[in-house]
Amino acid sequence: MNYHILTLFPDMVADGLNTSIIGRAADKGLLSIEAINIRDYTKEKHGHVDDAPYGGGAGMVMQALPVCEAYEALCKRLGKRPKVLYMTPQGRVFNQTIARELAGEEDLVFLCGHYEGIDERALEMIVSDCLSIGDYVLTGGELPAMVMIDCISRLIPGVLSNDSSAEIESFHDNLLEYPQYTRPEIYEGRRVPEVLLSGHHKRIEQWRREQSIRRTWERRPDLLDGANLTEKEMIFLKSLGSEAKKDLQI
Ligand code: SAM
Repeated sequence: MNYHILTLFPDMVADGLNTSIIGRAADKGLLSIEAINIRDYTKEKHGHVDDAPYGGGAGMVMQALPVCEAYEALCKRLGKRPKVLYMTPQGRVFNQTIARELAGEEDLVFLCGHYEGIDERALEMIVSDCLSIGDYVLTGGELPAMVMIDCISRLIPGVLSNDSSAEIESFHDNLLEYPQYTRPEIYEGRRVPEVLLSGHHKRIEQWRREQSIRRTWERRPDLLDGANLTEKEMIFLKSLGSEAKKDLQI
């Protein structure tokens, strides 16, 4: 996977993505991250890349020309026109399903806005998809791009030391992950659940699955509609509802 980030703050993304698991994956050649400075493509004397909005109003708008020129120069260099994802609070909210779809691409371009955003004509000309990281407004698209790149990269084979760990994490199968414990067995009087020390793999698997269902029901019941549950698990899920009703009666 080759990530190309179009930004006015290349150091921010380069610094943010060159450490830990993603940095190591880049060192191993499993992915590459390139931050392209949109400012390098301006034709304005003083390096301006923004101007006041037509029609008036607060703030500045990034001009179309440097954004489009930065993308066209990249396409020329690559010999293809990769997908452009515009980071915007107005986009579809990014999730694990979208991450899985994008992990299959060879090249992805992340377009980061700043100020009041980017001239609409540039967006019409080059953007393939608009993506958001949530219903709130940030100062720029750099953090959203880093969030998405981190998430997508974990799904690339070889990036995680144990590939199966991405498969059983939260949102796989529309369930949240079960609780995790490590040494020591007792901390401040709190014991690790007995079943995890039993060495009985089948019982551990069943306990974890039940914990996943319970946790999803407690914290993100909206996910359960899309979860793939067996008949036995459906009965367990219903029992959680009855438990809660009993608690209310006490
Ligand atoms: N005026 C824009 C609006 O109301 O939709 C918001 C502009 S915001 C201050 C500046 C830039 O930050 C946007 O162009 C976008 O790239 C990025 N941004 C802000 N919030 C975001 C979010 N929730 N998800 C993705 N990108 C976001």
